[in-house]
Amino acid sequence: MTLPSTGPAAEQWEAAVAAVRALGGDAGIQLICHVSPDGDALGSMLGFGLALRRLGFTRVRATFPGEFRVPTPYAELPGVDLLVPEAEAFTDPALVLVFDVAAESRMGGLAGLVAAAPVSVVLDHHASNTGFGTIRLVDPRAAATSVLAEQLVTRLGVPLDAEIAECFYVALATDTGSFKFEATTVAVHELAARLIATGLRPGDISRRIFDTRPFGAMKLTGEVLGRAVLEPSAAGGRGLVWTYATLADLERHDQPPYVLDTLIDPVRSAAEADVALLVKQVAEREWAVSLRSKGAVDVSRLAMSQGGGGHRLAAGFTGYGEPGDVVDTVRRLLDDYLS
Ligand code: AMP
Ligand code: MN
Ligand code: MN
Repeated sequence: MTLPSTGPAAEQWEAAVAAVRALGGDAGIQLICHVSPDGDALGSMLGFGLALRRLGFTRVRATFPGEFRVPTPYAELPGVDLLVPEAEAFTDPALVLVFDVAAESRMGGLAGLVAAAPVSVVLDHHASNTGFGTIRLVDPRAAATSVLAEQLVTRLGVPLDAEIAECFYVALATDTGSFKFEATTVAVHELAARLIATGLRPGDISRRIFDTRPFGAMKLTGEVLGRAVLEPSAAGGRGLVWTYATLADLERHDQPPYVLDTLIDPVRSAAEADVALLVKQVAEREWAVSLRSKGAVDVSRLAMSQGGGGHRLAAGFTGYGEPGDVVDTVRRLLDDYLS
């Protein structure tokens, strides 16, 4: 009989703690999260960065690959001053920590830095995590990477304060869909309670993170939802709903790409479809593809077959061609998956 997983092995936690304790206060520590960072990527990374500061480390930098643009909802997170553009990352850090990164491809050019580092600690919760890094704190059952980051902070003896807690709370709230998704366990609520107890105001945070968007983003959302297509017979009769957004759409409404990050949520609400698909243009003939399932389909397996990854009910990959080509690919993957 196999026992259920209880998260990272004790020796991995001990190795991670020892890796931090082995460093002098002026050691260069580089933190990295995934491209187009979301609340969990930034929140887990910056919360941990603040904890390193509390431990007395003076040379801590945080970064992510690609365009150096922090989504407005996260622009005032505590610890944003730790962020530097990819080009200003330490070239020879004593320690690298990687947050919420399912695959090395999600770190762009920074993957080389991780591979070359003497020690790299990977904190992640993607079932599809590809297994890089020398110390691995990876738990697919964790609701957010911040669950693992908070545990490491506690093991390092740093008490939670309101700034660290706000980072971890934003991460937890975003990755659980405001405490709605299936990974929202008793332990998740207990962690949320400990974070709120530092003095957080969840109402203010939620309004800022989830309920505030530029007017143009609202109009753009309306257009993208207006062109959604429902295919009730797709996915073996379980139904597929899909839509797409182009760079021209963003430009017309004068909006940055991050405003599309949560647009899959209204799409996936369609009752007639188990599977929801949002195809977001990132360049000429290149698309960031978001997949969601209500339970019938393990979309991480579909995404992984295309070089992407994610979780059972929420996953993504990079698609090429026209939006119709991407939709064709997903229809075919669903047929194969369900046959
Ligand atoms: P999204 O649809 O962008 O909200 O992503 C849903 C989940 O899939 C998240 O956990 C992402 O980290 C993961 N994901 C999205 N795109 C990719 C990709 N190209 N490769 C690996 N994981 C991805
Ligand atoms: Mn993420
Ligand atoms: Mn995450």
